[in-house]
Amino acid sequence: MTVTDIAIVGVGKIARDQHVPAIAADPRFRLAATVSRSGGVEGVENFDTLDALLASRPKIGAVSLCMPPQARFEPARAALAAGRHVMLEKPPGATLAEVETLTRLASDGGQTLFATWHSRHAAAVAPAKDWLATRTVRRVAIVWREDVRRWHPGQDWIWEPGGLGVFDPGINALSIMTEILPVPLHLTGAELEVPANRQTPIAVRLAFAGPGGATGTADFDWRQEGPQTWEIEVETDKGSLRLTEGGAGMAVDGSPVAVETQGEYPGLYARFADLIARGASDADTRPLMQVADAFMLGRRIPTDEFHD
Ligand code: NAP
Repeated sequence: MTVTDIAIVGVGKIARDQHVPAIAADPRFRLAATVSRSGGVEGVENFDTLDALLASRPKIGAVSLCMPPQARFEPARAALAAGRHVMLEKPPGATLAEVETLTRLASDGGQTLFATWHSRHAAAVAPAKDWLATRTVRRVAIVWREDVRRWHPGQDWIWEPGGLGVFDPGINALSIMTEILPVPLHLTGAELEVPANRQTPIAVRLAFAGPGGATGTADFDWRQEGPQTWEIEVETDKGSLRLTEGGAGMAVDGSPVAVETQGEYPGLYARFADLIARGASDADTRPLMQVADAFMLGRRIPTDEFHD
């Protein structure tokens, strides 16, 4: 078994909650260093800049970039140019063109680029994809409603250009939709509610269309207090499927279906190890394309100021 020395760049909420434990649990990786302006991980060598790490630690074969999307392109480019494999948190970039450039650089240099979509590794996503593979999709309804104050306290970057606003969680639903449906749906309309003092939407309603008259809707809202909702319902010619809890649970025609519990981030690192071993890349931009289309086609609706 090959063990890849890996560095985490940007040690914030998701790095601490998920990446550090997932790397520790995977024998194919060893957390060899961090790049952090705020301290890094106890017991692990820390660098102030990625350039310093790349210059002095040639044996670190991979980097996992866990900073907000607006700051990810240049470190990803530099790591690929230095011959390292690169794993990107979602969304993979602030623009589609950034990701296309990185994909080309990885291909030219022979490195692995893995643009992760953690929600695709939720327990019910693969079974849902299998169930849908032999059915005709009639209608998709996504409801992704959560409390931004609970999940993103003090995170100003999500309200800045490139931070995606409510699409930051909503793109997780779009990553599942684009993974499980046997046919593509494309965006036909969007309404974006943008707080008067912010740059990105706090609520979004999307409409989609697909082959054979299939339709879809998505309702993303960051103002939901109390119980949180992360659900996708798909009506087909042979029954209906409901994904609940962000893809962790599943029901068919109203009856729960047992699925094997698995961690999303262990699944991501297992896939990264597999891609590295095969000399392959995986950088699917379809979820980001849906968001870009919503920004292109969307009608802006000014709404109340948002204060943390
Ligand atoms: P965060 O805690 O606000 O920031 C992550 C870390 O990135 C910061 O602690 C900082 O690390 C570094 N950083 C912040 N701004 C930077 C900048 N301008 N330039 C360079 N580095 C910067 O964010 P997060 O919640 O972990 O989210 C990071 C990414 O993970 C996002 O793309 C998000 O969509 C994704 N994600 C988050 C969650 C979640 O539950 N929070 C879940 C899944 C995916 P240092 O101080 O160490 O430099």
